[in-house]
Amino acid sequence: MRCPYCSCEETQVKDSRPTEENAAIRRRRVCPDCGGRFTTFERVQLRELVVVKRSGRKVPFDRDKLLKSVQVALRKRPIEADRIDRMVSGIVRQLESAGDAEVASSTIGAHVMEGLRALDPVAYVRFASVYRDFREAADFQEVLGEIARDDVMDVPPRLAKKH
Ligand SMILES: [Zn+2]
Repeated sequence: MRCPYCSCEETQVKDSRPTEENAAIRRRRVCPDCGGRFTTFERVQLRELVVVKRSGRKVPFDRDKLLKSVQVALRKRPIEADRIDRMVSGIVRQLESAGDAEVASSTIGAHVMEGLRALDPVAYVRFASVYRDFREAADFQEVLGEIARDDVMDVPPRLAKKH
């Protein structure tokens, strides 16, 4: 594994342990050249997925990108990184086992909505407001209504007023 700091090709594994309930292996690595430390994850990949964007453009599925968009929604929320990883892995497994090599970005978005809804209601609203691209206040009210029906959260006043 190449060092991300100095591009040295020979990095060493310092520590290796199972994580995400044995669904992944986490390795701590160190670069002998620059002393840089970084972490890699080993995960099962059942198949290569291609994401079809709304524009019709196709890009290879990237777990890290998915994780980042979930992390943005969960910023400063008290959710452990391991639970976020498990949720993302769960989404990937569902996509991989759905049988299609091509997945619409809207399908991924729907999976994330579902996952966040169970994980953290505030992050759910954040993600929903971006993903659903609330053009009309009615959309936002609809989502808040869904949440209220689930009786899982108090809508933060800041969010409620904004729309
Ligand atoms: Zn290095």
